[in-house]
Amino acid sequence: MANSIIYGPVPSWRLGRSLGIDLLSTNGKTCSFDCVYCQLGKTVHPEVERKEFVSLDRLGRELKTVEGIAADYTTFSGMGEPSLASNLGEAIRLVKSALKLPVAVLTNSSLIPREDVRRELALADMVVAKIDAPTEEIFHKINRPAGSQTLDGILKALQLFRKEYHGKLALQMMFIEANRGCAVGMVEIAGRLSPDELQINTPLRPCGVTPLSTGEVAAIEREFGNFQNVFTVYGALKPEVVPIDSAATLRRRPKL
Ligand code: SF4
Repeated sequence: MANSIIYGPVPSWRLGRSLGIDLLSTNGKTCSFDCVYCQLGKTVHPEVERKEFVSLDRLGRELKTVEGIAADYTTFSGMGEPSLASNLGEAIRLVKSALKLPVAVLTNSSLIPREDVRRELALADMVVAKIDAPTEEIFHKINRPAGSQTLDGILKALQLFRKEYHGKLALQMMFIEANRGCAVGMVEIAGRLSPDELQINTPLRPCGVTPLSTGEVAAIEREFGNFQNVFTVYGALKPEVVPIDSAATLRRRPKL
């Protein structure tokens, strides 16, 4: 059913077979950003405050239907920014105990200045944090934040999170024409944050922005030559996976 909050598994270029959990599950995207390259279209519900969208009871009932499923990760993602869900921490605990799979959260980093969000994200085995811009101007141009978030505030909070967090921290950087020339600034940010992994992405799924070419992404990758564990979307291999529910999956991952 398209309104299930669990979808996939979807083939993820860094997480293997990823079983998605959408703790927002709203009709239309609910996000603190409105990124120009978003595959989910325009942000229908701009939101910067946390609240409960999906109850833990409902999550618990749906988890029973996927016990024993073949997946490599359960991943909190879906119709917007997962840390907007005020029950994210409890949901991570519930998913871990129900499925015995490692848990990843894909976050746009916008709420990471909040102490409660950092504490809840720290329960995940892997946090994939988005950073697309080295300056406030490009941050506003690409990510189009809904509230008063600043890149500086996000980067300072990510540095704090890096110190506190014992799991795997990946930085995901989406490169498009607007930040193609920003690799040096992004290298400097990566140096400050010391992630366990760097993911260099460009939007290959249909959206309003043209992806960079393989050559352009390779040139950016070369700038990160001093880092370990740098992966690009063009270099990644995706596993073959069959989603449990195509409608629920297509809602969050259009045109796989
Ligand atoms: S943060 Fe993610 S969901 Fe939100 S607008 Fe950007 S790409 Fe879309």
